[in-house]
Amino acid sequence: AKELGKSRFKVFNRKMHDQALQLMELETDLRRAVDLREFEVVYQPVVRLDTRQVCGFEALVRWRHPEHGIIGPGDFVSLAEDTGLIYAIDNMVLEEACAQVRRWQSLSVDCDGPLSVNVNISGKHFGQSMLAGQISRALEDSGLAPGSLNIEITESALMDNPNVAEEILLQLKDLGVHICIDDFGTGYSSLSYLQRFPIDVVKVDRSFIIAVDKDPDSQAIVRTIFSLGESMGLKIVAEGVETSGQLDFLEREGCQFVQGYFFYKPLTVTEVDNLLEGQRRA
Ligand code: C2E
Ligand code: CA
Ligand code: CA
Ligand code: CA
Repeated sequence: AKELGKSRFKVFNRKMHDQALQLMELETDLRRAVDLREFEVVYQPVVRLDTRQVCGFEALVRWRHPEHGIIGPGDFVSLAEDTGLIYAIDNMVLEEACAQVRRWQSLSVDCDGPLSVNVNISGKHFGQSMLAGQISRALEDSGLAPGSLNIEITESALMDNPNVAEEILLQLKDLGVHICIDDFGTGYSSLSYLQRFPIDVVKVDRSFIIAVDKDPDSQAIVRTIFSLGESMGLKIVAEGVETSGQLDFLEREGCQFVQGYFFYKPLTVTEVDNLLEGQRRA
């Protein structure tokens, strides 16, 4: 038994060694990817439930690795955060998404107002003082109206350093962009920040949507978020809607906006071009 334990330990060590090597290789690759701009932005439509129209998009990054193919953010964002490469990546997505959505706005697409775009900013990046400057430059370069841009941040990004967060949020509000809380309800934070910070949009996390067609607890949570949103004048978006059962519940509860595979997966620029072609004003 002792022998077995020893060899197992060796195997384990070997595995850790391999993983460390892989991680180093990934880091080298990621640095190169930033230099060579090996990233692509895909766009997941946000749908207005009453009309089923596409009203905007969330920009989501993909890494086009020369050997490994498309890599999703789940596999590189935390490494990008640890190495500081996330600033460059978030910025690139921000600039590209603003310019792209500005182009789509000029297609005279029929929705309540101009198409909007949501851009994710990492908590790491959020605490940086140059964020407002970067956003303002992206708006200027693209010609996108500030009111068409929603900046998505998580609760924990705000609560890690509430004083800094408040200052940055006020700078962003000054620019005229909207603030969106991503993955709402999954942080350890209290609700008091909704009162303290100038929040415009809240995205109900997918974990509450998954069983919302049958689980009373999920239903109670989602109902509570909707009524909180209504009384506080927040716009609420339900994330990760995959089934008609989930959608039925959300519609019954008066949900206004949804995002999820039930309507659309994240789409390439060409796919969005085609989609919008069908939604143009007659
Ligand atoms: P997120 O911001 O919560 O984005 C939603 C994720 O859920 C996306 O995964 C999206 O493709 C996926 N999704 C959308 N609808 C459905 C659905 O109906 N079912 C399921 N199962 N999933 C759905 P993705 O693109 O892999 O992104 C993962 C996370 O990576 C994002 O979560 C976000 O936190 C981060 N991320 C993506 N792009 C960026 C970026 O440009 N900058 C930063 N800092 N983070 C990013
Ligand atoms: Ca997001
Ligand atoms: Ca989310
Ligand atoms: Ca998430």
